[in-house]
Amino acid sequence: MALQIPGIYYDGQSSIAHPAKISYDDSFFIIETDSGTFKKTGRFLARVGRAPQTIEFNDGGSFQSSEPALIKLKSELDGFDLPFWLESKLRFALLSVLIVSSLMFYCYRYAFPTIAEKIALQVPESVNDRISQQTQDLIENSKTLTPSQLSFGEQFKIQTVFEKLKTIFPGMKLEPVLRNGKEIGANAFALPNGHIYVTDQITTKLSEEELLAVLCHEVGHVNYHHGLRSLIESSAISVFLLSVSGTIDWTGLPLALLTSGYSRKFETEADDFSVATLKKNGMKPSLLADALKKIDKPDKNTNHLFDWFLSHPSTQERIDRILKQ
Ligand SMILES: [Zn+2]
Repeated sequence: MALQIPGIYYDGQSSIAHPAKISYDDSFFIIETDSGTFKKTGRFLARVGRAPQTIEFNDGGSFQSSEPALIKLKSELDGFDLPFWLESKLRFALLSVLIVSSLMFYCYRYAFPTIAEKIALQVPESVNDRISQQTQDLIENSKTLTPSQLSFGEQFKIQTVFEKLKTIFPGMKLEPVLRNGKEIGANAFALPNGHIYVTDQITTKLSEEELLAVLCHEVGHVNYHHGLRSLIESSAISVFLLSVSGTIDWTGLPLALLTSGYSRKFETEADDFSVATLKKNGMKPSLLADALKKIDKPDKNTNHLFDWFLSHPSTQERIDRILKQ
C-alpha cells in the first residue's frame, strides 16, 4: 500500500475542510476521508514560502498538507522545484547581503586604511613628488591663492619659524610656500612632499610660537603620509582596478588631495604629533590650542576645503584634547 499522508481535503463544492489522508498510485491521487475514498487526477501547485503544499484536482477539489512526505512526493513526481528552492534560500540571500555589507564596512573602516598605510610607505619618492607637484600646479592655476602680500620683514619672520622647524626635523624636506589666502583666509596645509602652504592671514593672526605649533601639526600630516593615505583610501576602487587592469589614472588624485579632508583620526594624529614635538622642545602644548582658537573664526564665505579649517573633529574637541595632554 502506498504511503498515506495526512492533510485537509476540500471537495470544491463547499468551503468545508475535511481531515483526510492522501496517497498516490498509478497516476491517481487516492483521498481517504470519513465520508469515503476518492480517486482523482490533479497537479501540485507551486509552493509559496511556508504555506502548505496544495494539490489541485481536475474536478475542482483540492488537498493541502505541510507534511514533508507530501513535499517529497511532489519532487518525486514533478522534479526539482527551482522557484521554491530559490525562494526558500531568501534568508540565505539576506544573510549574504548582511555578510557582504559587513565585509564592505570592515574594508572601509579597517582594511583599506591598513592597506593604504602599507602602500603609502611603498610609494617611491618620485611618485610622491609628482603627485605633490600636480597638486601644486592645480592650486597655482586655480588662482585660489595669490602671491604673498606680506612685507619683507613679515616674510622673514616666517622664514625664521621655518628654520626652527627644520632644526626640529632635520631629516625632512620642508619648504614654506607663502601665499595670500584671499577667501581661504587663515590657513596652512602641507603637500606630501613637505611643501607647506602658509597664508598671509594665518601669519598675521598667530605669534611665531603658535605658527610653529601649527606647522608641527602639518609636519605630522607629512610624517604619517596622511595625504597619500587619504588618496589611496578614497581611491581604493582604483587600486583594485590597478590590480585587474594594470592601469590607474593618477590625474584625478591631486584634486582629491585638495578637496578631500583628513579624517578625524588623521587630524588627531597630527595634533598629537604637534603636542609631542612642542613638549620635546620645551614648548607648551597649549600653543596649538591657542592657535586653533585664533584661527577658528571662519568668515561666511570661507572655503572649507583646506586642511586647517576642516570641521571634523570640531575645533573645541581638538582644543579640549590638546589641553588634556
Ligand atoms: Zn590637519
